Amino acid sequence: MTLAVLLAAGDGVFDEYNHALHAAFAQHGLTATLVQDAPPETVDYIVYAPSSPLQDFTPFTRCRAVLSLWAGVERIVGNPTLTQPLARMVDPSLTRGMVEYVCGHVLRYHLGLDTPATTWAPVVPPLAQDRHVGLLGLGALGCACAEALVQLGFNVSGWSRRPREIARVDCQSGPEGLNAVLAQSDILVTLLPDTPATANILNATTLARLPQGARIINPGRGTLIDDAALLAMLDSGHIAAATLDVFRTEPLPPEHPYWAHPRVTVTPHIAAATRPDTASDVIAQNIARVEAGRPLMHEVSRKAGY
Ligand code: NAP
Repeated sequence: MTLAVLLAAGDGVFDEYNHALHAAFAQHGLTATLVQDAPPETVDYIVYAPSSPLQDFTPFTRCRAVLSLWAGVERIVGNPTLTQPLARMVDPSLTRGMVEYVCGHVLRYHLGLDTPATTWAPVVPPLAQDRHVGLLGLGALGCACAEALVQLGFNVSGWSRRPREIARVDCQSGPEGLNAVLAQSDILVTLLPDTPATANILNATTLARLPQGARIINPGRGTLIDDAALLAMLDSGHIAAATLDVFRTEPLPPEHPYWAHPRVTVTPHIAAATRPDTASDVIAQNIARVEAGRPLMHEVSRKAGY
């Protein structure tokens, strides 16, 4: 039987994924066809991006899983019509992109690349081993970044909801764990999902726990940061600089103070993209698992919201 896989995403995504997904279906022994439109009761799987107009999953009575093209699922996880299992995207190329973005910006701050010398007054930067990087979030992305930063020689600590173990990373959880990570982070990287529990996790109180002159890199979600509190801390100098990739409103409005702030670097949500070839492989692998009666990989917990 040929499986009907509906690609529900914005314009242009079908052309990007059509070839890669069909190749991946074949590679995983699936007889499946990718469609842009079909009677809902005939659809076996939905590959989904929030740019899709599809919001009501009720008529998809035969659908066995919804496979998100995005790692962040905040725009679909609370949809009350979604009764089907939901998988978020864990794509090796997306992970690689995030590792490169995070390591690049950590090294930029570590080496002071934004402040080239204007007079001959040598200031030798410390070695990575003398610098502490904290990661809020130790999931697929946070863990990969932590491991890469350890390889570069940094002291790395991280914080997650449940206790974790990662070689050569000081892993913390719980409110005390958060305070411990904040207190020692010269550079803080936020890779938490957008959930009610993580909203404004960086606020006036928690930002004040960072060491004087700390730097922040946020490729997680805009909702993690209380923007007014961060701007106040940047103006006071307690936070020396911030690199922000994600925002409460995207595109970031032209009048937003982040654009003009001398110590803020804005990147337009480009830290890590899902790549069709590798993502298609993950999607096909997941469909093959469900067809074989095995559990879905990367299933989202509706209760935790990620
Ligand atoms: P993930 O594997 O689900 O990991 C999430 C991490 O956050 C886990 O370590 C989790 O703890 C921790 N966490 C969640 N809620 C928490 C809480 N209340 N307190 C403490 N820790 C909490 O997600 P991922 O694949 O690494 O992705 C992380 C986020 O990156 C995504 O949700 C998305 O928002 C963002 N992202 C951004 C881009 C970009 O281009 N800027 C691209 C992709 C993803 P446990 O380990 O205990 O579960």
